Amino acid sequence: MTAFAWGAATDTGRLREGNEDFLLAADGLFVVADGMGGHHGGEVASHVAVETLGDLVEDNGRLTTDALVDAVQKANDALVGRADDDPELKGMGTTLCALALVEADDRDVLAVVNVGDSRLYLLKEGELEQITEDHSLVATLERQGRLTQAEAAVHPQRNILTRALGIDSKVMVDSWEILPFVGDRYLVCSDGLFNEVDDDRIAATLRRLADPGEAARELVRLANEGGGRDNISVVVVDIVDDEGRAEGTANTDRIVSTVHGPDRVLATARVSKDGRQDPGSTDVSENGESPTGRKRRNALTWRVVLFLFAVVAVAGVALGAIVYSGTNTYYVGFEGEEVVIFRGQPGGVLWIDPSPEERTGLFRDDLPERVLSDLEEGREFSNLNGAGEFVDNLREQVVDDEPAPAEPEAAPPGDPVAPTTTAPTSPPPGG
Ligand code: MG
Repeated sequence: MTAFAWGAATDTGRLREGNEDFLLAADGLFVVADGMGGHHGGEVASHVAVETLGDLVEDNGRLTTDALVDAVQKANDALVGRADDDPELKGMGTTLCALALVEADDRDVLAVVNVGDSRLYLLKEGELEQITEDHSLVATLERQGRLTQAEAAVHPQRNILTRALGIDSKVMVDSWEILPFVGDRYLVCSDGLFNEVDDDRIAATLRRLADPGEAARELVRLANEGGGRDNISVVVVDIVDDEGRAEGTANTDRIVSTVHGPDRVLATARVSKDGRQDPGSTDVSENGESPTGRKRRNALTWRVVLFLFAVVAVAGVALGAIVYSGTNTYYVGFEGEEVVIFRGQPGGVLWIDPSPEERTGLFRDDLPERVLSDLEEGREFSNLNGAGEFVDNLREQVVDDEPAPAEPEAAPPGDPVAPTTTAPTSPPPGG
């Protein structure tokens, strides 16, 4: 059976009037929430979130990671409902970071759920590692390589969160499953600690003080010593029994699974720590590693689909126009020596070749020189009537341009008159 020893401490700090952080440290469930929002909204938010989570966990006995994630969603629902009921609490929100003992594949594992910028660290063989990812503007920019860690630490917008409970009806929850090993020490804390005390100092303190309660109190003291500009909450959890896992097992990676928010649904909150919806912070387009990024990737995907749809539609219209002009227009040109009305475009369009529509019985030799080049290129018309009228006009030019008929020679006297279709132009001899 997995067993814990733990200690916790929270403090208002040296500048804030009240403590909007709230924590829970019970056997198998360790939670820190950092509330925000005016009119005690932050205080209410962190209390409601932690208590809702605590009650759900208590009611459900042995948990799974999914049930814990659902419990976070229910805590979010509780906050949203509370803010709807009380206008003074509108805009309240909270971070939530929890470590809980759950069951997976018939064994004990530690489930971690996180929303916002409170953190879970693991001290393993003396090395401190941050397990959770912050859902904050600066953390996002840092993951994108747009800010260094040092720049992020002093960035004027480091209070801007990209996710929090209580802001939207759906919340993205990151979760991890971690194998408990004897000797491992976990730290759950609000940003009031790590904004005042650097990781090296936190690690040194956790290594130095064996008692978890003493370690927690010392970390709070160091945060106040560092400035105490925010509320400070610290929970230190030691694994004191791991069902023999550590015995005979080489050092292994503790983390057995990681699920980032998007697989579970999803809205993006962007609020500043004073509880306002933040209208003007730097735009964040994540690189795909973070939940927000995946949410945005979904949005991007829709834009891509719409764009492709538009491209296909435009291409379809263009293709339709080409096919129309290739099959419903006409031109007059030569086929061999004969003048022919063709359906289609001279030379064809794409795969559509022109086809003879009407033969005219007119030939190149019948026509005046001045019209030939026009016909060789193909004289185009939008309909068959137009082409027909043009051909009629050509026929008239044939007649006009023909030389006047010569006077027939008189038949020699005594010759019989040859039968002819043309009328005789001179009287028969001797008549
Ligand atoms: Mg804080």
